[in-house]
Amino acid sequence: MSVYTHLVEAEKNGAELRFNEKVLHWEARSAGEGVTVITENGRFEAGKLIITAGPWSSQLLKNVGLENNLEVERQIMMFFEPIGGIEPFRVGNFPIYVWDSDDYTQLYGFPSSGLRGEGAKVAFFRKGGIRCTPETIDRNVYEEEVNRLRHYLD
Ligand SMILES: Cc1cc2nc3c(=O)[nH]c(=O)nc-3n(C[C@H](O)[C@H](O)[C@H](O)COP(=O)(O)OP(=O)(O)OC[C@H]3O[C@@H](n4cnc5c(N)ncnc54)[C@H](O)[C@@H]3O)c2cc1C
Repeated sequence: MSVYTHLVEAEKNGAELRFNEKVLHWEARSAGEGVTVITENGRFEAGKLIITAGPWSSQLLKNVGLENNLEVERQIMMFFEPIGGIEPFRVGNFPIYVWDSDDYTQLYGFPSSGLRGEGAKVAFFRKGGIRCTPETIDRNVYEEEVNRLRHYLD
């Protein structure tokens, strides 16, 4: 919802939104003279460039030698179906939280907004992340990982 709101506000303020268009390359012109961006669909000139490619950012920072400044880790989150029903976990009834458990493991979650079905989100806060890239990440979630998280909910 907040991403959507930002997009709407950006468009109201003159931004042209372009989706599903991969940036292939960019380069800065001489100092202060802006940038050229090459995408799958064309070539764009701009005064400034802001790169917000998340875990793919390394690929777009290679030409300025910053590709090794970012480390990407696999992190997982889960949505649990509460035994007593979702109502106490809905927005308005339940907080955004970070919980420090007795063994110093941190867990966090959000109230249910109904956007992802009726689950309550629970996740480890940056625990045990394996280094990867968006191409090599293991996108499976394993039973053993579910059990490890469930242990803190019991
Ligand atoms: C496990 C996990 C759970 C999270 N849960 C929440 C949550 O519940 N609530 C919350 O508010 N935040 C959550 N976050 C944080 C949130 O996901 C990030 O803060 C947010 O996604 C960062 O947004 P971003 O736009 O910077 O990057 P991203 O969301 O990673 O977006 C990067 C975009 O760049 C695009 N891109 C990449 N390369 C190119 C290219 N060459 N050309 C064009 N486009 C390209 C990608 O397709 C992608 O759309 C979570 C993060 C993790 C890891």
